Amino acid sequence: MMRAMEEMDQENIFDGLSSVVEGCRLPVKMRKGDEWPLAEIISIKDVNGVTYYYVHYVDYNKRLDEWVTEARLDTRKIQYPRKDGQSNAGTGVNTPIKKLGSGTTTIPAVPVPAASSRPSSPVGPPELVNGNAFLAAALNKKMNRKRKAPPPVHTVPNHAEPAPEVPVQVVRTTKSTSLTIPDVPIAAEGDLSEPPSSDRRLTGSMVAHNDDIVTRMKNVEMIELGYHRIRPWYFSPYPQELIHFPCIYICEFCLKYRKSRKCLERHLAKCNVRHPPGNEIYRKQSISFFEIDGRKNKVYAQNLCLLAKLFLDHKTLCYDTDPFLFYVMTVFDDRGFHIVGYFSKEKVSTEDYNVACILTMPPYQRKGYGKLLIEFSYELSKFEGKTGSPEKPLSDLGLLSYRSYWSQTILEILVNLKPVDENERPQITIMEICELTSIKKEDVISTLQNLNLINYYKGQFIISLSKETIDNHMQAMSKRKIRIDSKCLHWTPKDWSKRSK
Ligand SMILES: [Zn+2]
Repeated sequence: MMRAMEEMDQENIFDGLSSVVEGCRLPVKMRKGDEWPLAEIISIKDVNGVTYYYVHYVDYNKRLDEWVTEARLDTRKIQYPRKDGQSNAGTGVNTPIKKLGSGTTTIPAVPVPAASSRPSSPVGPPELVNGNAFLAAALNKKMNRKRKAPPPVHTVPNHAEPAPEVPVQVVRTTKSTSLTIPDVPIAAEGDLSEPPSSDRRLTGSMVAHNDDIVTRMKNVEMIELGYHRIRPWYFSPYPQELIHFPCIYICEFCLKYRKSRKCLERHLAKCNVRHPPGNEIYRKQSISFFEIDGRKNKVYAQNLCLLAKLFLDHKTLCYDTDPFLFYVMTVFDDRGFHIVGYFSKEKVSTEDYNVACILTMPPYQRKGYGKLLIEFSYELSKFEGKTGSPEKPLSDLGLLSYRSYWSQTILEILVNLKPVDENERPQITIMEICELTSIKKEDVISTLQNLNLINYYKGQFIISLSKETIDNHMQAMSKRKIRIDSKCLHWTPKDWSKRSK
């Protein structure tokens, strides 16, 4: 009897597994923890008689995708792909990947959620109206009047903005500091929208790229880079003959790759550099930045892109690194300058982008280095006397870092604002915030809205800073131990539009 049941169970399991096909969905146990989230089968392979399934956890970032064995599949709850050929939502299967040049990341559009998810009705006492709602309502009216032309694609809803040139006043109250924006001509144009992505930068070397099954799957098991062994997150087009090895050994200084430690050791005996190429344009304590011209140091730049792609999802590689500069951040010790992260930047950006692609290497993440990279990118913009913004859309982690950087940088200014006249409220315009920080106007406004600081009071826009906001800000700033010191940046911006790139 027992035997019969066992046999039956086995048969059921067998049947269940044979029905697992690419495209179907079922609960799969994650590597860490006991969760069994819904996952999609991307690919199936047999290795020495064992079947492996490449799964994508539907509601999770692709970096968690992995090969699993049947033991981690729950075939009782299997769902089959829709017959109409439509993919189920949320898999990223049909997420278009664009080829945008070596220094470039493209990630699916992430709308600024705070602005749209907030209640649109006025909050608080009747005389204190939520500024966002007021602005949104005003903008809607204006937009409706203007809505003859087709609406822009990717418009962030409810995204109105106060006129940048209108000064903002600071109100001191017993409990908190407030800022007011005096009487408001609303100049909102709703221009926070992105241009349609298909129009963007698909020129020259930047060729559209078809998403295929190969580039959706991680292909490199492990890399060794200096002191670190790192498990990659995403596909990267390392040479086919290399990816069959259990680990790719990368020279941390010139970023050349080898198939074994022995080969790397042979390379290191010949490789004399102990720092990235290019000019060291910043040094403070152990932190340095190197500026690398993608045209002059092509091999390094391409190797950097290959390495970065392992940790950047929607970046597709193109070997034309010429139009980009690469800023590599390193930490120094007695063995050399070790790469911590980098960002790339177009030599000439027609859209005021000051970062194309940005990455902190995983071993250095969550230590404040990402914010340091961002801070440095704005420091360069300050030297150039321009405002800038990262290329959109940002990755999930990138967006979090930028939001946090923008909030802290803008709050730092608001909190320390002093009134010109003692009896008056301190005033500042949004344009002045842009000039002080080099943060682009749209990002300043969206940050103020995300922080929910804008209110409308007796005919004026007010930015009120509660004690809680200030305390939280002070606490956050105390954690930012490493900062960019502009005195340590030795750099003169070049006008690349006037020279050969
Ligand atoms: Zn080397």
